[in-house]
Formats: sequence, structure tokens, C-alpha cells
Amino acid sequence: MVTTTVLGLPRIGPKRELKFALESHWAGRLSAAELLEEAAAVRADLRGRTVRAGLSQIPVGDFALYDHVLDMALVLDAVPDRFTGLRDDRLALAFAMARGRPDGQGVAALEMTKWFDTNYHYLVPELQPASRFAYVWRKHVELFQEAMAQGHDARPVLLGPLSFLALSKPTDPAATTSALLDPLLEAYAALLADLASSGVREVQLDEPVLVLDADEGTGPALTRAYGRLRAAAPSLSLWLTPYFGEIAPDLLDRVLDLPVDVLHLDLVRGPDQLERVLARLPADLDLSLGLVDGRNIWITDLDRAVAAAERAAGQIGPERLAIATSCSLLHVPYGLATETALDPDVRSWLAFGEEKMAEVALIGAALEQGQSAVAAELAANREAHRARLESPRVHDPAIRARARAITPEMTRRGAPYPERRVLHQARFDLPPIPTTTIGSFPQTREVRLARAAFRNRTMAPSAYQRFLQAETEKAIRRQEAIGLDVLVHGEFERNDMVEYFGERLSGFAFTAGGWVQSYGSRCVKPPIIYGDVARPSPMTVEAAAFAQSLTTRPVKGMLTGPVTILQWSFVRDDQERQETCRQIALAIRDEVADLEKALIGIIQIDEPALREGLPLTRAARPSYLAWAVECYRLAASGVRDDTQIHTHMCYAEFDDIIDSIVALDADVISIETARSAMKLLGSFVETTYPNEIGPGIWDIHSPRVPGIAEMEGLLLRAVEHIPADRLWANPDCGLKTRGWAETEESLVHLVQAARNVRRRLAA
Ligand code: GLN
Ligand code: ZN
Repeated sequence: MVTTTVLGLPRIGPKRELKFALESHWAGRLSAAELLEEAAAVRADLRGRTVRAGLSQIPVGDFALYDHVLDMALVLDAVPDRFTGLRDDRLALAFAMARGRPDGQGVAALEMTKWFDTNYHYLVPELQPASRFAYVWRKHVELFQEAMAQGHDARPVLLGPLSFLALSKPTDPAATTSALLDPLLEAYAALLADLASSGVREVQLDEPVLVLDADEGTGPALTRAYGRLRAAAPSLSLWLTPYFGEIAPDLLDRVLDLPVDVLHLDLVRGPDQLERVLARLPADLDLSLGLVDGRNIWITDLDRAVAAAERAAGQIGPERLAIATSCSLLHVPYGLATETALDPDVRSWLAFGEEKMAEVALIGAALEQGQSAVAAELAANREAHRARLESPRVHDPAIRARARAITPEMTRRGAPYPERRVLHQARFDLPPIPTTTIGSFPQTREVRLARAAFRNRTMAPSAYQRFLQAETEKAIRRQEAIGLDVLVHGEFERNDMVEYFGERLSGFAFTAGGWVQSYGSRCVKPPIIYGDVARPSPMTVEAAAFAQSLTTRPVKGMLTGPVTILQWSFVRDDQERQETCRQIALAIRDEVADLEKALIGIIQIDEPALREGLPLTRAARPSYLAWAVECYRLAASGVRDDTQIHTHMCYAEFDDIIDSIVALDADVISIETARSAMKLLGSFVETTYPNEIGPGIWDIHSPRVPGIAEMEGLLLRAVEHIPADRLWANPDCGLKTRGWAETEESLVHLVQAARNVRRRLAA
């Protein structure tokens, strides 16, 4: 019998039940016992869905209240010393590691960072020199027993030891991976032995790091680790599951030699590896074929998937195969049932979590009973693909012709920056170290209520318009009173910097309940780009022009850049990402041109997600960076030389992409630096960033108001690296989550700090 399964499941609940339970618990309204009960209900519901979809085996233990990497650290007792006082209460400990100590004792949370190239964030375990790992929490046994009691064939999922180490952060040079591998393996060995003696038959060991560029140590560590795990539990069937790409070619031979029982292949991102693996597959190694995309929301090309499965079955027999998703379903929404308002054509091209499980089951059935047994389903799938391929809602010849006609000149400003700069000085007459903000101002309850009322049609469009204008006018007057040099309209009309634009562009669809976990209780609802993208009419010009009409100071027009819109959406899989990005870039370019025509002289195109799009392997990066930069420049370069273009980036590692940031050729870039006390400036210094920079001097993540001296100190640090005549003063990021009180006070300090530094430099 062919095993049909998924590598992991979503976990926030079909209506975000877990999110709301967590938040109630943190607010003190829900007890720990009630929270755990809610979590068990979410799991039971999920298991029901896997059965209804027809899967033969389900993963367990991938569930986590906050984060699965955090849970693995807790299972292995990788708890930093500063949390020692909380060891007796695992739930309180977990939440303290995730969110810091709420009681104001100043115990910092673990750092959070992106899970590979997804928009999921995990908590980074800390490795101390004396890290004594120990198997202290039987989480996987408990969840296995829970599932068995409900009658499921369950396969516990562990984050594998190599990935656990690679994703962790040494807090001391002595805490090296090589020093810690053996003690870590002993804890894993104890865990596996416990699973084996608890009746578990199969265990999944996730090793996504095997798709990254391997360094010298990886191969030997891999052999050592899996040798030890095998010895710990000779009876267990061990699944080794790399995903998010093909297994690093340098490691493949070694991987095929490991003493594991099933090897998973991500055949969505690495379809070519199937032949390579089949050519060398040992007789005692079975395969799990990841044929259904766990990272995107399109229906699978079932003909192709079945063909790949049949190809593998033809060589090794169906009994040695499992059919699976490429990775966990954590990265897609629960199911399409909530999407009754979606355009029926678009809907027929989509598969969320539940539909993907059904696809896996279907491929399994085709393999086991022959294609004729599922002929109707295959025909329907074929028909949906054909309709999508031919649909006029997807393909717009005018947009395609325009994208084909892009010339290199369109991606270049007229004059080089030094000449543009002279024009900007003449046009805007700004003081040295001009002050500005990143775009959004506080989204107060009033603002959110008005937006909701407008959406629900309980507020008339004209009344909403008047409300927004009144908010903008107040924001302009406040900025004038504070003394900022370059003003913004405040972005009160935007609920989200991608959704706002997506709703005004063609080719985008929006879901009612397509939530995906971003971190902890935070979820996002990414737009779906299904068709060619164009801008039917101006999106931001009215708001910017209105704001500019109120003041003699320059008002910055605010746009989200093409790469960020792409990155934070579910993207088409029927054309290259760069094609889609170019279409978005042309739409933004149109908007930039209209802003310029409306006499907006300064335009900011935000690209906070530029770094996130970076491919996981080095070999693929140059091409991504080339088209990403080209798309930004395409959006930004259609302007006169005396128009000043800004960009903004935040909360990412910039060191490895600094050349590309320079290549954007924005006149001004604002970046987040206050949070790291200007550490980030390092990359910009070494490359001597040639244009203007606004390093953030206010960490906007808390209501704390930084003093004048503190911000002045940061600016003085910045002037050591950046000539004062190319320096701006601004916060780290947008202010939409802040309140007005701290915003006004902090900005008054920021303006004063800039004035003080100007005076010092003039003296
Ligand atoms: N202009 C946006 C804002 O101020 C930028 C947000 C971001 O960088 N994520 O909200
Ligand atoms: Zn930002």
C-alpha cells in the first residue's frame, strides 16, 4: 500500500482559534488549562480533516503553541540561563522565551528570524558553551498517544539535529556546532528510544538545511548524527526529510548512504533530483515524493505528478513509495471552504491545505488502483489547467507586449546622482540632515473603525473621504508644528502596505479567511496574484496631492515597491517570478509618473522585503538580485532628474546584498539602525554608500520615547561614517503601531537632535 501523507499541518485553527486563545491567555482571560484544551481541539479538528481528505498517515508533534523550533529547544532542554527561574512551569517558560518576561524583569526573549525563505518566523535557540542538552519533555510521545487514541496512524515529526544546530545561535565562541553535536545527539538518542518504546514505528526527521550550500563540516556531521540515531532506535523507521529545494548535490551521495529508511524529496522545487536519486538509490532506502506544493496555493498538475510517481514506482515498486507534500502545510491556509466570495474561475485554480491533502490522496490512488480509478478527478484537473492557461482574466496581451518592450534606458535615471543632487538642493532647499518619517502615522482606533465601517458599507464613501482628509490635515499640522522638513500624508487609508496596492491592481485576488501563521499568534493573509498585473487608475495621487495642497513643505509620495508586493503575496506558478515582478514594476512606474505630474517632488518606494527574496543557495542569488534591482529601477526611473526618489528597508541582514542596494540608485535610502545601535551602518560604510542615507535613530518597537541626547549620539555616530551633507534623520520604520503621544514627543526630540548636530557641525 502506498503511504499518503503530508510533512506537517497548519496549526492556527481554521478560524484562527489558536491565535485568539493565545492572546486571551496572555491577557489573563484564559487559564493555561483552557488554552491547552483549545489547542487539543485544534489538533483534533485537523486530524479529522486529514482523514476526510483520505491520507493514510499523519504527522504529529509538528504542532506548537508558539513555534516548533522553540518546542524542540524545550524538548532538549536548550534553555538559556536567564530563564532558569521559570523551569518549573513549562508553559510560562515557553512564553517567556518567546516574548520576554511580561513582569518587567527585563529578561529578553529569544531572537526571532525567518524560517528559510518563508514568511514564518522561528525563535533562535541559544547555544551556551555549557549547553547540556537533555531529553526533558515527552511532547512527541504525548501527541503520538493523543493521535493513536483517536485512531490515527501517526508519525512523530522532529526537527533533525543538524538543522537544530544550524538554526541556533552560539552565544559564545566556545559553543561551536562541532563541540555541541555529540551532547545534542545523546539527547536525540534518548528521545528516539522513548518513541520506540512508546509504540512509535516511524519518525520524521526534518533536515531542511540539507538543501542549503553545504560547508565542509556538514557531510561528516550528517554521517555521525544519523549513525548515532540509528543505533539509538534500531527498530524505528526513520524518515529523513529535507525540503525547500533539492538536496545539495555535494551531499547527495552521503545522504543516500545514511542508515535511514525513507528519504523525502522536494520535487516541487527540485524536480530534477528524482532521476539522480533513482539512478543511485540503495535497495533498502524507500522514497517519499513531495509532489504537492506546500508553499503555494495552486492546484497541482496531477498528470505531471502522477507521471513522476509512476516513473518512481516503475523502478522501485509502489510499496517503497510515499506520496507527500513538498514541505509542511504550515505555509498555506487551511482550506477553500471559507472562500465563497472568490471569483469561481480563480477559485477552481486554487488548492489550500485541505485540497492539497486530497491531491496527495488522489496521486496515491492513481498509483495504487491505476489512473482509471481516478479518471474523473484527473480530467477535472486537466480542464482547470486548460481554463487557466487560456483565461483572459490571466492573460492580457497588452500587458505582455508592454513588458516585452522594456528597454535598458527605462531602468536608468537621466543624470547620475551627483547631478541630480544639485537639482534637488535647488528645488527643495532642505537644511543639512533633513528630518522625515517613513510614511505611516498612528493608526488609532478611530482610524481602524472608520476603515472597517467603510469596508462594511456602513460609512458612505464621501464621509470616509472627508474623514481621511481630516486625519491627513491633522497629521500635516502636527508635522509642521514638530518642525519636520519632509512631510507625509500618513497612510491612514492603508491597512497593509501590500494589500492596499493589490486591491487597486488588476490580477490580484483576496481571500476571506486565507490566514497563514507569521509568528506566534500573528497571522497574515497574503493576496493572490493570479493574472497579468496592471494599474487601471491612480492609487495614491489624490491623497498625496491633497496633503501637498495643505503645506508649503515638500510632501513625500509613498509607494510599496514591486519586489515587496511580489514577496508578500502568493505568486503565480505559471510564469517566472521575475515576469510577474516586471509587470508590478510597470504599474508602480505609472503611479510614480502620475505623482510627479501632480507635483509631488519626492517619492518613496519601500522595499523592506528585498532581502527576503534572496534564494537559499548562493548560485541562484546573482540572478535574483539582478532582476530585483532591475524591477525597482524600472519602477523608479521614469522621473525627471529633479524628482527625488527614496527607498526604505528594515529588519533584515543587509551585508550580503549591499552592492544591490547601491545599485538601486535611490537618491535617499532610510534603513533601520536604531535597534542595533548603528551596527548596520557597517555594511554601508565599507561600501561607501554613494547617495544619501537616513539611518533610523528611533527604535519604534516600543512606546519608549528616546531622549534628545540619545538620538543626537546616534547621529554623531552616523556622521563618523557618512558625510553630514548626505545624512538624513528619521525613525527606524513606519509609525502605524505607535500612539500619537509618544510619536509627537519622539519626533520633537528627533528634530531637536538633528538641529543640535547641524549646529555642532557648523561651529
Ligand atoms: N511606508 C511604510 C510605513 O511607514 C513602510 C513600512 C515598512 O517598512 N514595513 O508604514
Ligand atoms: Zn520599515
